[in-house]
Amino acid sequence: MKVDANKGNAERETTLIKRQPRVVIVGAGMSGILSAIKVREIGCTDITVLEKADKVGGTWRDNTYPGLSCDVPAHMYTYTFEGNPDYSKRFAKGKEICEYFERVTSEYDVDKMIRFNSEVKEAVYEQGCWSLKLQDGEMLKADILLCATGVLHHPRWPKIEGLENFEGNLWHTARWDHSVDYSGKRVGIIGTGSTSVQIVAEITRKVGKLSVFQRTAQWVYPLFDKLYSDKEKEKMRKDPTIGEKLHRRYTSFFNAFFPKLVTGNKLTQFLVSYLCKWNLESKVKDPVLREKLRPNYQAGCKRLIIANGFYEAITSENAELVTEEIERIEPNGVRTSDGNLHELDVLILATGFHAHNFMRPMEMVGLGGQTLKNAWSKGAYAHKTLTVPGFPNMFMLTGPNSPIGNFSLININEYQISYIVQLIELWMKGQVDEIEPKADKTKEYNEDLQSAMLGTVWMTGCKSWYFDEFGRLAMWPWSMEKFWAEMARPQTEDFHLRNLEKGVEKVA
Ligand code: NAP
Repeated sequence: MKVDANKGNAERETTLIKRQPRVVIVGAGMSGILSAIKVREIGCTDITVLEKADKVGGTWRDNTYPGLSCDVPAHMYTYTFEGNPDYSKRFAKGKEICEYFERVTSEYDVDKMIRFNSEVKEAVYEQGCWSLKLQDGEMLKADILLCATGVLHHPRWPKIEGLENFEGNLWHTARWDHSVDYSGKRVGIIGTGSTSVQIVAEITRKVGKLSVFQRTAQWVYPLFDKLYSDKEKEKMRKDPTIGEKLHRRYTSFFNAFFPKLVTGNKLTQFLVSYLCKWNLESKVKDPVLREKLRPNYQAGCKRLIIANGFYEAITSENAELVTEEIERIEPNGVRTSDGNLHELDVLILATGFHAHNFMRPMEMVGLGGQTLKNAWSKGAYAHKTLTVPGFPNMFMLTGPNSPIGNFSLININEYQISYIVQLIELWMKGQVDEIEPKADKTKEYNEDLQSAMLGTVWMTGCKSWYFDEFGRLAMWPWSMEKFWAEMARPQTEDFHLRNLEKGVEKVA
């Protein structure tokens, strides 16, 4: 079994441990695997990871579409404590990333803690204990509950009239149907987000004809990729510090760019806009097509697309960009508002995800019988992205307002778990039984969040999945430095820290 060389191991401070919590982690994606490793590092021995699917990997397991890759540099898209010298290119393919998570799971013995095909349907809190009900009715107890349920994993099926009548092959990008051979066929794809752009770049040369249905044009930032030679990979295998240096370098580079684009840095906004425009204008020569592809909002307002090959694909002879509104789906194609029927054999829905569900549809009942459904009835919120008043001893990874549109999720999750384990340690030292964020501190925090949103690029006039159904921006409006600083140490005054036996609050 491997341990994180940077952070010590299970022997760390074990003398201070007075009791062992039963820890349950929901989800075995990148944040669930990380949580298991980090919770074990502080000395926890009773850890169960519940995964509803039959494999690890989360989004990298579910998404298998052609062209799937990561637009975050691969050597930054690893845990800081475990590199991957085998990545084939700077922006690795989805399959390689999934294999990395599988390897970490087995090398760090996380696989021994996972129970697959175990979906949590309900979690009820009472007197310091969470009772979890699984899909088959089995009950499980937890003192500490970690929800590592990801963000983009509930596919969004569009509400388009007649969709159910389509007689060809139809699927959502996150549920790719590999049994269908699309080569030579008439293929349609609805949507032009990051997913669609990667697919279009990959499949256009194989299909007979591709119709791309665009509702809103998107800025595409050029992706400067690079293949790693066998020699380079061998060097990285022999000397892990090379990968570590790359990780640090990409992290600083990323931080110098994308989060600053969000928070309104004028120079960054100018540079990103300039490169997006240059990308469009240098690659799309047909002036009519170019204007159809040109967004009418600022780059970064919607999630910036970072990709290669899309403009080349959409300008090829067998591709068409359809900008007329979709009126309905008919058995043999898509009817648009100009009356045209775009006949299709295959229709792909690249229409994104329900990004604000978090652990729902799992039902949660907290203190005094209050439900999460009720607590979040006007939108999901949390204290510092991690905890919710009324739901003690429950922690979220990538919870509401995490900086997911600004940075690499792995970095975010590593900071979040380092905060969470400090609170779990209080429980383990016997100092507190119940850890709950204070409602007034959470309210204050969320008011600050929402007022800071006004200065962000997301508010400059576009629609995106960053807004929830109530029109609230569910993102992180500040710098990454502020996020990292906030995650460094829990402010214990923000929490009710209760001793249940004595019925008093403790100052930890
Ligand atoms: P998305 O960004 O939400 O894009 C959905 C697309 O579908 C949009 O173009 C949207 O148009 C269109 N659409 C939705 N409903 C429609 C309807 N009824 N009629 C017509 N068009 C409709 O989804 P995504 O591309 O799957 O990407 C989601 C997120 O996943 C990304 O933003 C990114 O964070 C992540 N992702 C990351 C990578 C990576 O490399 N790291 C790769 C893929 C995805 P409108 O714009 O008009 O709403």
